[in-house]
Amino acid sequence: MDSKKVHIKSFGCQMNKLDTALVSTSLEQAGFSITENVKDADVVLINTCSVREHAEQRVISHIGHLKHIKESKPDMIVGIIGCMAQRLGDKLLEHKTVNIVCGPAQIPQIAALITQAQEQKKNELAVTEHIRKAVEENENQALEDFESAYSNEDERNPAQAFVRIMRGCNNFCTYCIVPYVRGPEVSRPPETILEQIRKLADNGVKQVTLLGQTVNSYQYKKDSKVWSLADLLLAVNDINGIEWIKFVTNYPAEEYFEDIMHAMADSPKVCKYLHMPAQSGSDRILKAMNRKYTAAGYLELLDKARSIVPGIAIAGDFIVGFPDETEEDFQDTVKLVQKAQYRNAFIFKYSPRPGTTSEKRLEDTIPDEVKQRRNVELLSVQEKISEELSKEYSGKEVKILVEGLSKKPHLNSSEGGNNPQLIGRTETDYIVVFNGPVSLAGKYAWVKITKSSPLTLFGELI
Ligand code: SF4
Repeated sequence: MDSKKVHIKSFGCQMNKLDTALVSTSLEQAGFSITENVKDADVVLINTCSVREHAEQRVISHIGHLKHIKESKPDMIVGIIGCMAQRLGDKLLEHKTVNIVCGPAQIPQIAALITQAQEQKKNELAVTEHIRKAVEENENQALEDFESAYSNEDERNPAQAFVRIMRGCNNFCTYCIVPYVRGPEVSRPPETILEQIRKLADNGVKQVTLLGQTVNSYQYKKDSKVWSLADLLLAVNDINGIEWIKFVTNYPAEEYFEDIMHAMADSPKVCKYLHMPAQSGSDRILKAMNRKYTAAGYLELLDKARSIVPGIAIAGDFIVGFPDETEEDFQDTVKLVQKAQYRNAFIFKYSPRPGTTSEKRLEDTIPDEVKQRRNVELLSVQEKISEELSKEYSGKEVKILVEGLSKKPHLNSSEGGNNPQLIGRTETDYIVVFNGPVSLAGKYAWVKITKSSPLTLFGELI
């Protein structure tokens, strides 16, 4: 008998993509096969994100698209998994197209939920009822088994893998939905993480990225020792076969910060790259966001990072147009960006997320055109900084991990005979475009940089 085909579409962050990879491999092990073609599928799963309104709107419009496909395939099962499933629960089942709603903590049950929906022809709901309650031991164990048992290699680039080291968040930034959909912070046991990375290395993985909503608050008490992210980095550094270690995302907190920076400086495999969102440069707005630092404190952390790890590349995130953000507040953010000298910054316009403190207590006062103008202005300030920093690479030779063929042709890349255009990344997360043989995919290579744009370097294979 042919196996049932599953198509999975992911609409979210790195954490969400990791869940997609885990769900794919678990379903394959349960006898399903994965298809890229939605029209071929017996089961369609949408892995969702609730962080921004736009991402949720895309999911709703995708459900509309599936409704048309389902008209000619009424037995097709449609499942919504991930953060939006946890946030909206049975409301999603009001869409006639949807058969399964499964939250992030219930993904180990996904194969069973599909089988039940197929056999019993009824809708299935599996979400956490009290999301901020301490995680139940059995639920945690199910997630732990799921996480460690399934391969989580990135299929596009089998040399790299993402490894979750913690789940959830306890920070309650007022704009953020994560604590309400991913639950309280739980750090995974270090020995399980290390065992998982050893297995990945045995399978040819060379780069691991350790994932957490606030990865630097990782803490695991074992016997008399408390493991921090710094301890974990040092231990991963000792695993044979792993060449590069990255970690995202960091919360600007002093606790462990120096230890983590020293671990980076002392461990040749830990990439000199720090992604640490600031969100705003105004202390008034940071307080309203319930971020527990000041702009000056944040900049001090960057100074510390640069003094301990010379050459470290730093990236940041910002929200513009938070409720009541004045022009002066915004200019404080511009000043912070100028001082921070990020290699890259991700800038978002504020949108209220239902159920968060800022949505409940603060009016969304900033008109969209003002958010848009501030977004464009901040991007252009950052672009100039990125351009200057990337120029410094001109003429230098950089080591990259080759990801594979470039998806779109970069017109100003260097010529390379008959070789196709490839992309790779430096340890500082620059995309590098060059011509070379496809056989380099998944391998490290050296490239001499000949040109640069703010976010991309172009060069010749050495
Ligand atoms: S630290 Fe703040 S922004 Fe980040 S996931 Fe936690 S609550 Fe959300």
